[in-house]
Amino acid sequence: MMRWLAIKENKRLFSPSTGSTASVVKRSLLFMLSLLGLFFLIAILALLRIACDINNRADEQSKTLLQKALQNQQTTLKGHARDYAAWGESYTHLHKTLDTDWAWQKQNLGASLFDDFNYEGIFVIGPQGDTRYSVIEGKRANLTLAQWSGNQPQAALNAALAKNPQEPVSLALSINGQPALLAAAWITTGDDEDVQPVPGPPSMLMFIDQLGPQELRELGEEYGIRDLHVQTAASRQADYRQVALPLALHNASVVLEWRSENPGRSLLLVMLPLMVFISLLTALLAAWLMRSALNKARLNDENHFLLEQSRQALAASERRFRDVVEATTDWIWETDDQLRFTWLSERFPVITGHRIDAWLGRPITQFIECEQIALGDWLLQPGQTAHRGLTHCRYFSAQGHQRYCNLVAKPTTTPEGALSYRGTATDVTLEVEAQERVQYLSHHDELTGLPNRVRMKEFLEGKLRSMPTREHPLAMISLDLDKFKPVNDLFGHGAGDEVLHQISERLRACLRDVDLVARQGGDEFILIIPDIEQKQDIVHLCERIVREIRRPLYIQDHEIFIGASMGIALAPQDAVNATDLLRYSDIALYKAKSAGRNGWVFYSADMEEQIVQRREMEKSLREALKEEQFRLVYQPRYDMKAGRVVAVEALLRWHHPAHGLLMPDQFIPLAEETGLIIPLSDWVLNTACHDAQNELPGMAVSVNISAVEFQTSGLVARVREALHTSKLDPARLALEVTENATLWNPQSSLEIMNGLKALGVRLLIDDFGTGYSSLSYLRNFPFDGIKLDKSFVAGMPHSENANNIVENIIGLGKAFSLSITAEGVETPEQLEQLKMFQCDESQGYLISRPMPLADLKGQIEKMGE
Ligand code: C2E
Ligand code: CA
Ligand code: CA
Repeated sequence: MMRWLAIKENKRLFSPSTGSTASVVKRSLLFMLSLLGLFFLIAILALLRIACDINNRADEQSKTLLQKALQNQQTTLKGHARDYAAWGESYTHLHKTLDTDWAWQKQNLGASLFDDFNYEGIFVIGPQGDTRYSVIEGKRANLTLAQWSGNQPQAALNAALAKNPQEPVSLALSINGQPALLAAAWITTGDDEDVQPVPGPPSMLMFIDQLGPQELRELGEEYGIRDLHVQTAASRQADYRQVALPLALHNASVVLEWRSENPGRSLLLVMLPLMVFISLLTALLAAWLMRSALNKARLNDENHFLLEQSRQALAASERRFRDVVEATTDWIWETDDQLRFTWLSERFPVITGHRIDAWLGRPITQFIECEQIALGDWLLQPGQTAHRGLTHCRYFSAQGHQRYCNLVAKPTTTPEGALSYRGTATDVTLEVEAQERVQYLSHHDELTGLPNRVRMKEFLEGKLRSMPTREHPLAMISLDLDKFKPVNDLFGHGAGDEVLHQISERLRACLRDVDLVARQGGDEFILIIPDIEQKQDIVHLCERIVREIRRPLYIQDHEIFIGASMGIALAPQDAVNATDLLRYSDIALYKAKSAGRNGWVFYSADMEEQIVQRREMEKSLREALKEEQFRLVYQPRYDMKAGRVVAVEALLRWHHPAHGLLMPDQFIPLAEETGLIIPLSDWVLNTACHDAQNELPGMAVSVNISAVEFQTSGLVARVREALHTSKLDPARLALEVTENATLWNPQSSLEIMNGLKALGVRLLIDDFGTGYSSLSYLRNFPFDGIKLDKSFVAGMPHSENANNIVENIIGLGKAFSLSITAEGVETPEQLEQLKMFQCDESQGYLISRPMPLADLKGQIEKMGE
């Protein structure tokens, strides 16, 4: 419906101005029709004209005929007149004397003339012009011509007869409105020699034939003229065509009228209907022809229009196809049933770099190959009619680069009926490369380019599937860098990254091609060494790795030293699945780290037990806090100048319900790792402050603060809170901090320390000499004193080296106005030596072991004594 509307609309658009066939046909048909009409009009007019002409001619003919008839009538009349006038008898009986008996009774000039010839008037005029004898309509009458007819043609007759006295004359008259013929002749003796003429003027004989209505009709009919009559006003109204002939009579004029033959009418009667019929028929025929011609033309136009439309649609679709073909990154191909290229789109050379003609006729299988399936088999698979796709097929560009495309194919038939294949090839090289890149990235560490955890797992699982044996086991090595964290903190992350990068290179260099090194995260690496010949090889490898990693690194003009600890697990000895191996090598690593740096440890079954214990410990640590299993012991700090105890250090003990007394080294690291250190430290702070305020008057107390606590905010607030609740003078509280605390984040550590200083508490560097920092570095922090690590004191006084170091440190400390406390003083010699070095305080078993508060109070009293 809509389509038809559209067509009609369009038809109006391009007709008639644009000259559609229909309009041309219509115009020419109309022209021909009007020509035909004109022709018929002319024909009818001509027919009418012909009819009129025929009529006229027939009328003329009948006129001539009538005139002839009248002449004949006149001639006959004249003949009779002569016969009777040139007759001796007549001369005798009419001129010499009037013998009525001869004339009338003997019927010589009597009624017979009327009866036979219908002569109405017979007059004998004497030489004196007197009417001697007259018969009117066959009856004897005594009337003159003038009396009877009202005419007096005597003079005219005389004149005419005078010209030729032997010949009778005639003329026409009107009598009572009817024409009449008159013939007159002198009565002579004729050839009759017996009658002697008499002198004197002759007598005249006159015959008058009046043409009355009856006679006129009969006269006419004799000549084929019908209804001849004298025209009257009434006769003019006749309902047929009449012919009129005016007659000039002697004394008047009349018009004779008769029915026209009217042959034109007959012609018209026959021809006109015929013509009208024919013209109507022709008109109808023409109209029908025109209609069908118009319909045909319209149909033609419609077809043409539809054709034009479909042609335009086809052109548009072709254009669209071309545009699409040219615009896409796809190229389109067609092959014959042998899979040889028969057509390639314009994009083919643009995308592949190959020339079209170089490939036409060559099989597609030579150009493209697929990993999943042989392309030829795939294309020729029977029973496939729909579009099918094949992804990531390979081909080589003209430049020789490997490229990828997705194929779509569909079998078709050529117009000739042969089987062919047609489809598109979408270049997906970028996509495939991106995918490969994603694949690579998801399997590799961005920083070092080493395989990451995911790749390592895959690799490990692959290797484990091939079943390593006890003779040729697989080793999994967890490696953790020692002293890496400080590098990161001291020299920045850029340097840290560089260290990791260089270490990765060194690790890689240590391994065979079949081995794998992966970065596990942070400064942890995993090495997988499959197919080991003998256990000794791993030992050699570990030695080599330690050696390599210990070589100094040069980064940003710094010489950096790094170490590594390794834990080794073997498959199948220790475990045969990846998760267990990873866990075991990790346990071994943990062991290696706690055993000391730069070493390696093979996993053993009992390690796991220790780990389990550790886990249980963690659990009981939480419970211990709740159930108050912790106690503080105090160790006095002895002022060497004053010679008395001036302060105590609070040291933590855990009375474990199962394991008995536990020392800080056994649980502090765990508390630090689990974050339990904060509540634990809070408890220590509060208890120590409380004890000092209430039980140890005048005594200072120092509390150990873990380095971890410097990484959390809130330390200052917590200390303030402890001071506040215990009401302890801040000057009596000292916090012992290992130098490592400053290393995590020097800036925030400094801020925290300043906050603590602002509270009025003292800050001491604990275990001084074991860390990385120099004294000058620590000068930047607001420390009040140093606690010299017991390892230095231990060598005294016998080791010269130890003595030197201790003396130097004490000297430097004094230079920076720091009080010095020597830890681990166990012998009087050590104490003596320290006194010599002018050490401020000493602490150690020599003076007192750490002890509970109650014991301490007694001890101090004793010492005071
Ligand atoms: P530290 O701060 O160096 O504490 C001194 C350690 O040396 C104590 O061990 C003490 O018993 C021991 N000691 C004292 N005099 C001598 C001696 O003459 N010879 C020898 N060989 N050792 C001596 P302890 O109590 O086992 O504490 C170990 C470490 O645990 C402490 O080292 C300290 O860093 C940490 N610690 C102790 N209590 C706490 C605490 O409440 N909080 C925190 N964060 N750490 C604590
Ligand atoms: Ca301490
Ligand atoms: Ca210490």
